[in-house]
Parts: sequence; C-alpha cells; structure tokens
Amino acid sequence: MADQQYKRGTLLIHAGVEPDPSTGAIMTPIYQTSTYVQAAPGDHKGYEYARTQNPTRTALQKALAAIEHGKHGLCFGSGMAATDAIMRLLSPGDEVVVSNDLYGGTYRIFTKVYAQYGIKFHFVPMNDAGSVEAHVNANTKMIWVETPTNPLLNVIDIEAVSAIAKKHGAVTVVDNTFASPYLQNPLDWGADIVVHSATKYLGGHSDVVHGCIIVNDDAMEEKLRFIQNSCGAVPGPHDCWLVLRGIKTLHVRMDRHCENGEKVARFLREHPKVAKVLWVGFEDHPNHDIAKKQMRGFGGMISFVLKEDNMDAAVKVLKGTKLFALAESLGGVESLIGHPASMTHGSIPREERIKNGLPDSLIRLSVGIEDADDLIEDLKQAIG
Ligand SMILES: *Cc1c(COP(=O)(O)O)cnc(C)c1O
Repeated sequence: MADQQYKRGTLLIHAGVEPDPSTGAIMTPIYQTSTYVQAAPGDHKGYEYARTQNPTRTALQKALAAIEHGKHGLCFGSGMAATDAIMRLLSPGDEVVVSNDLYGGTYRIFTKVYAQYGIKFHFVPMNDAGSVEAHVNANTKMIWVETPTNPLLNVIDIEAVSAIAKKHGAVTVVDNTFASPYLQNPLDWGADIVVHSATKYLGGHSDVVHGCIIVNDDAMEEKLRFIQNSCGAVPGPHDCWLVLRGIKTLHVRMDRHCENGEKVARFLREHPKVAKVLWVGFEDHPNHDIAKKQMRGFGGMISFVLKEDNMDAAVKVLKGTKLFALAESLGGVESLIGHPASMTHGSIPREERIKNGLPDSLIRLSVGIEDADDLIEDLKQAIG
C-alpha cells in the first residue's frame, strides 16, 4: 500500500494492515507465539524468534511509521522503554540538552539512571528556541524536546531547535505523546527521532502500556533495532494489537478531544474562582504562533490555577469531581483530573517547583470525549 497518497483519516485506518495471508482476516491477528518453525535451518518466512520479530508488531510498526511521516517504526514495552533505547545511542562523556518542563519519568531516567553512566544533562527552558544554542558544546550529541510540555503546556519550536541541533551535529528527539501524530509530526519539522508513550492517545482507551519510536534514517533505525533486539524491552503481541486498534479511531477521538478541550478551557477562563488557564489554543498563549505553525489542533490537555492558591483548595476540587477521575496518565476516552504538585511532580522541592511556575493549586485535566456539557457541569459543581 502506497501509504503516503492517502489523507490522514484513511491512513490511520489502513496503514500497515493487510488482510491476514493465511485466512484473509481483515484485522491483523494476535500472533501469540514465541517462535516460528523453519523448513531447514535458515529456511523460514522472515520470522525466527518473537523478541526479534512478530507479525502483529510488524503491522503496528508499519502503521506508526506511516502516520508519523517516517520510514521506520519500532515498538517497546512502554514509553520509558522506548526512551531507554534512545539513550543507549549515547556514550559516556556525551551531553544532552533537555527541555526543563518535562515528563517526570523522563527526568528520573536521565538524572537517576543515565547520569551515573557519565552522560551529562542540561535542563533548559526552550520557549525561546534561540537560547538553546548557548547550552550546546562539542560534546552535545542530542537535544531532547517535549512539546507541548507537561503540565505547563509550553510549546517549543521544533523547526528552530532541530536547525540548531543539525548545525552542531546533534540529533533532535521529540516526545510527541501530548500532541499525537494526528496533531503534530515532528519529523516534518526536522526532528530525527520521535518517541511516544502509546499508553496515552495512540492506545487511547486506558487499557495498555506501550511505547514507540519513529525515524527516517536507515542507519539510525539499524542501531535502534539492534538495541531493541539486544536489550529486549519488546511489547507482547496483544499489546501491539490494542495499539493498532486504538490508532484506527485516533482522528475521531482527537477531533473530539480538541473540541471538548476548547469548550472546557473557555469555561474555566470565565470562572470567578479560577486565576489562570493554560491551554495552547488560546490566542494569548505565549507560544500560540508556534502552536499554530506546527500543530493542526490544540488538544484536550489543560492546566489551571485557582485564585485560592493552596493545596486544600485544590484537593477540594480534585475530590469533588464525579466524571473527571482522579488518576495519573492521560489521553484516554475518559476524562482525568490530576494534581502535579502532589502526584507526578511530588518529588520536586516546593520552592523549586514554584520557581519553575508550578503553584500548589495547579490542576491538570486530560479532557476525554464525553459530552462537553456534562464535563463542564462536573467542573462547575466541584469548583463551587
Ligand atoms: C506517560 C509518558 C511517558 C512515559 O510513558 P509510559 O508508557 O508510561 O512508560 C513519556 N512521556 C510522556 C510525555 C508521557 O506522558
């Protein structure tokens, strides 16, 4: 299938998937097997052992490559396993420039796992992409970007950061989990590696933990595939199947996430007890122009700060919602509410957290695809 000639919705449904050659099954089967029978040593159908290849995973990897506008897709057992594989491209002495507003687990693997192997990380604000260059030196091998960021919803200019990386011979990695490939394709803006926690929007139904990497460069793919097979953090076929199934409705879900996100963000902005609403779709968002350039929609991730800025006021709202479930994670069909200061960012000292723009009462919403009126009513009664 010449995937690139189709429009995005068609691609999401058909990319990577062929009728099963043995039965004609329209949906790729879950090949729950560990090995494959050979007619004679080396005489096989392209599959030898399931850590190395699995047909369900192959279909998903092809689909992911097509929808991210890349040449190669690689799947992993979680988003963190995918990040781990990317870090294994580096050697002791290498340096990485990282956006400072970052998923907590990514911050943890960098500072607590890879720093002890002699890799140096510089956490810098990237709202002004031009300022990134000051942190690049001869040892810089990678620039790591997460955009939009979590939970402050800053937007980083992928094209500008990638150009700086290229100039200095470093690779640009973009964690595209928050936007999903439906709203943003970092490879189109010059990034070298895209990573996703497919646990979130790609899976979309809060029923699977999964990660993936998409690249264009053949040599880079070969290195990553070697790491994938050697280190072995591969997903099982059932998890690959769940993500493959999730992708088929990504466009329908994302359109509704964007629509509901906008309605909820505008409601919150008018609420007398709310001090500030962070959502990349607002015209007065500081990076709205960049968001408009590199994103096709603004998503359903919203953070807001209460006028009564303390933990107790936040907890009252968090305990008061009935539809919004208090939980970590994001990107599923059901709406979630969370409190970064005590949940995902609880390990950061209070002063440092507040200095970085994350106040006590900041509440993060992953707006789901329920009816927006019900979501707004739920927030109305919880905020009071
Ligand atoms: C959840 C998440 C990850 C980690 O993915 P897991 O699937 O939980 O391992 C990485 N980056 C972002 C932005 C995330 O939201």
